[in-house]
Amino acid sequence: MTELERKQDRAPVPSSWDYAPAPEARDLVQLRDRYGLFIGGKWIEPKETYETIDPSTEEPLAQVGQATPEEIDLAVQAGREAFENGWSTISPAERSKYLFRIARILQERAREFAVLESLNGGKPIRESRDVDLPLAAAHFFYYAGWADKLEYAFPNRKPRPLGVAGQIIPWNFPLLMLAWKIAPALAAGNTVVLKPAETTPLSALHFCDVLRQAELPPGVVNIVTGDGRAGAEIVKHPGVDKIAFTGSTDVGKAIQRELAGTGKRLTLELGGKAANIIFDDAALDQAVEGIVNGIYFNQGHVCCAGSRLLVQESIYEPVVEKLKRRLATLRVGDPLDKNTDVGAINSRQQLDKIAELVAAGEEEGAEIYQPPCRLPEKGYWFVPTVFTNVAQSYRIAQEEIFGPVLSVLTFRTPDEAVEKANNTPYGLSAGVWTEKGSRILAMAQKLRAGVIWANTYNRFDPASPFGGYKESGFGREGGRHGLEPYLEFE
Ligand code: NAP
Ligand code: MG
Repeated sequence: MTELERKQDRAPVPSSWDYAPAPEARDLVQLRDRYGLFIGGKWIEPKETYETIDPSTEEPLAQVGQATPEEIDLAVQAGREAFENGWSTISPAERSKYLFRIARILQERAREFAVLESLNGGKPIRESRDVDLPLAAAHFFYYAGWADKLEYAFPNRKPRPLGVAGQIIPWNFPLLMLAWKIAPALAAGNTVVLKPAETTPLSALHFCDVLRQAELPPGVVNIVTGDGRAGAEIVKHPGVDKIAFTGSTDVGKAIQRELAGTGKRLTLELGGKAANIIFDDAALDQAVEGIVNGIYFNQGHVCCAGSRLLVQESIYEPVVEKLKRRLATLRVGDPLDKNTDVGAINSRQQLDKIAELVAAGEEEGAEIYQPPCRLPEKGYWFVPTVFTNVAQSYRIAQEEIFGPVLSVLTFRTPDEAVEKANNTPYGLSAGVWTEKGSRILAMAQKLRAGVIWANTYNRFDPASPFGGYKESGFGREGGRHGLEPYLEFE
């Protein structure tokens, strides 16, 4: 036996190279057993409570309040008092100071908040650490910079704050949506009553400790928790001057009906069914990464997700083949494992909705592909899924699934791509992949979508306005545009 053979005998080469688990420390965040409602800078003991869980294990995390109409009323009063007794009249530079403080504290405590966001929401720690937290801090930094420059943002228009803003946010990016809502509202001089989603209240409640550390005056930000009933109470409260809502189109429409004729200001950021369009001259490997990021990022719980893939017919086969191969390498599992690509589905209810639409896709005749994948026994999980042979009329091509499910369609010419991309009641976002700059510009002109990415997908920046057309809602968040819904002008 040669020397080399003897060595191989002792240390056999493994047949596969698996990742060892790399869990983030869960004890980075100290949870309380029970949370109150944060009203007027104090914790109020709620009359009713419910349990919030970890969707990856179904284990309870804490008891939180289900705000009653009387408690919502207290929160609105606290917001009004804070607005009138100082917040709307302190120097704008002072307001900047608080926002800068909040931004810095969020950066300092980012690791703790990232763990909490993954625990309560099911998203991979890699995403909460690298996307949600840096962007949430960036939004506070960005709007801190505008707070004392409103006169320059809107020259000759004499901007004034509106009063108390009621803000209702969803469960897919709990802390980031809080930042998108609170930062521009405070920068413009308003006070806030915010309700996080029923399933993900914890980062918003934990954020109250950041407000305490920043010494924000009491009542400027009030956090009330609970299900849709609490949201509906905020919407109809006569003391609220403006509603900012992110969530489903159905609830958005109900809010719009409720507010008709009241004079309350409204912005709606609703669903989407975005087309991610791949032309035959695109860099295919990069495009495949963009497709994966477009739909499997955050389990597809993304309003601007690239959920309809439009591939030019001539490259259909290689794209689908590369995509399937890439799918097999996605790691689904423990949200707190740093190797995880796809975490848990946010709730039983959302899992049922995804399963129902996937079953409808199979029934209508689409071809399903799911890579081999072992899912944890407890918790809510869905295997990353691709449908081919999809017709435009299928429910999976029309309805928002809000899960890790991609529908693939084809096109031959740019005009056909535009027509198919725009064949949706939504209009939030789109992606274009091509080497030709002129084609990017031509497509961007014709696509009816608020945000269009070129040779990338799901990129966000606080300076860039975000929002939709048609049933995706109205109003913009981010950038100078994001201040306008919180101001009135003389
Ligand atoms: P949703 O019901 O519209 O939830 C959004 C927020 O509104 C939550 O805080 C929710 O509370 C609250 N809410 C519910 N009913 C209300 C009412 N009548 N008045 C005022 N506020 C109300 O959405 P969802 O049930 O979480 O998700 C359903 C679907 O919406 C998803 O499958 C997805 O298609 C879409 N969605 C879109 C986005 C987006 O970013 N555009 C985000 C999330 C969901 P609860 O948490 O208690 O329901
Ligand atoms: Mg709901």
